[in-house]
Amino acid sequence: MKTKRFILIAGVIVAAMLVTLQAAELIKEYKWGVHDNSRPKPKIITPGTFSTDDAVGKAPSDAIVLFDGKNLDKWCDNNGTSPSKWIIKDGVMESVKGAGYIRTKDSFGDCQLHVEWAAPSNVIGNSQGRGNSGVFLMGTYEIQVLDCYENETYADGYAAAVYGQSPPLVNACKKPGQWQTYDIIFHRPHFKDGKVVKPATVTVLHNGVLVQDHWVIEGTTWHKRRSEYIAHADALPLKFQDHGNPVRFRNVWIRPL
Ligand code: MG
Repeated sequence: MKTKRFILIAGVIVAAMLVTLQAAELIKEYKWGVHDNSRPKPKIITPGTFSTDDAVGKAPSDAIVLFDGKNLDKWCDNNGTSPSKWIIKDGVMESVKGAGYIRTKDSFGDCQLHVEWAAPSNVIGNSQGRGNSGVFLMGTYEIQVLDCYENETYADGYAAAVYGQSPPLVNACKKPGQWQTYDIIFHRPHFKDGKVVKPATVTVLHNGVLVQDHWVIEGTTWHKRRSEYIAHADALPLKFQDHGNPVRFRNVWIRPL
């Protein structure tokens, strides 16, 4: 009789322990309960507006405006010289042949980035020689800018390609001279002891069309050479490329994530 009672009590204790352990596991797995009212609510912001043929769009209220058409105060040349040799003309910034990259004075890592660009309406050159520039995330990973309207080139060098790695899913280019948008969601790579432990990822919408779908970046952008990672800081400046063509940019804003 005593043995039976002992077995029963021991069984109840073990069951209670199992339930407690399971509950602890659940708490570990889910930080918040379903519809948990104590969960912090999303911060209220004012969304931006889209650019139209007549008006330049506005950034969301929580974005850092990097270029609003007025000045290049947030930018410098690649060697740190300010003001940059890039010019502002009619409220837009334009690359100048031989000026080199323009870069932000501030550094960024994970981000949502909005960029508007236009290839020269005066069409000169072909393939990679026509309306070439680039958005270099962390100054290292290029989302290609290129006039790809009726302009053949190699697939991983098209506009909105992760240059040398991933062609865009479609060619959504507008005619040269027309304003085009890139909306980019980027997560930086993580390094440990000089080795990449979590590669960077990028999602790109070109003129509102998904063209890079959470692409896992293979490494630093190089030309005619397979990419690999070189360890770097958690935040680095954003750069735009001078590739010898007068490509214009406007309405540039970023939301660090
Ligand atoms: Mg380029």
